[in-house]
Amino acid sequence: CGIVGYVGGRSALGIVVDGLRRLEYRGYDSAGVAIIEGDVLRSVKKAGKLANLEKELGEVELTGSTGIGHTRWATHGGPTDRNAHPHLSTDARVAVIHNGIIENFAHLRAELTAAGIEFASDTDSEVVAHLLQAALADGATDLTHAMRTVVARLEGAFTLLAVRAEEPGVVVGARRNSPLVVGRGVGENFLASDVSAFIEHTRDAVELGQDQVVTITADSIEITDFDGAASTGTDFHVDWDA
Ligand code: GLU
Repeated sequence: CGIVGYVGGRSALGIVVDGLRRLEYRGYDSAGVAIIEGDVLRSVKKAGKLANLEKELGEVELTGSTGIGHTRWATHGGPTDRNAHPHLSTDARVAVIHNGIIENFAHLRAELTAAGIEFASDTDSEVVAHLLQAALADGATDLTHAMRTVVARLEGAFTLLAVRAEEPGVVVGARRNSPLVVGRGVGENFLASDVSAFIEHTRDAVELGQDQVVTITADSIEITDFDGAASTGTDFHVDWDA
């Protein structure tokens, strides 16, 4: 439902949760975040309102400056803690959040289960975390390359964001039939399903086109198509009150 990503010099958690709050009007049933702390990936997720997530976070100290956050509107699997996003790979090195529906998830899930993967949720989304881990194990040089390999296998509608413990300072996104916008900051960059998530930080935005992958760091935004060819989004300035 709502998606936010951040990389920069500030602590990601507050920025991500504030961004999710700006997207609250869309409605949701669960919320969660993943933050890279040093080279460790930490994830907290909870059914119910953002207040529930914040209560859970109250006991956790997270100061990393790379993070993603999600508010979920359940389509596959009930609105429970375990079905909330992010979803993690089995090695807990990759976290992914997803808006939309992966139409061929049952086929992918069966294939992964046959390969010995144990699923931790009932969602269509979790297959992406395991496919990213498999792509990395199969030689994808980084999360961006892994994402390109994985999206080639997905059918349906998706905005995806992923982070990886081995790549602090990087958030990778991808989109098909579902919106994704980059917020261009100074020494920091944002990703969101809607500009209102980052409007208090920057009004310089880039709308991604169909079937694109984007990789943001604190000072770079790289966009390609699903095959890896360099591409561009549509730059715009937000001059309305979002
Ligand atoms: N289909 C996914 C799920 O049920 C994502 C739902 C959403 O867009 O929030 O978990």
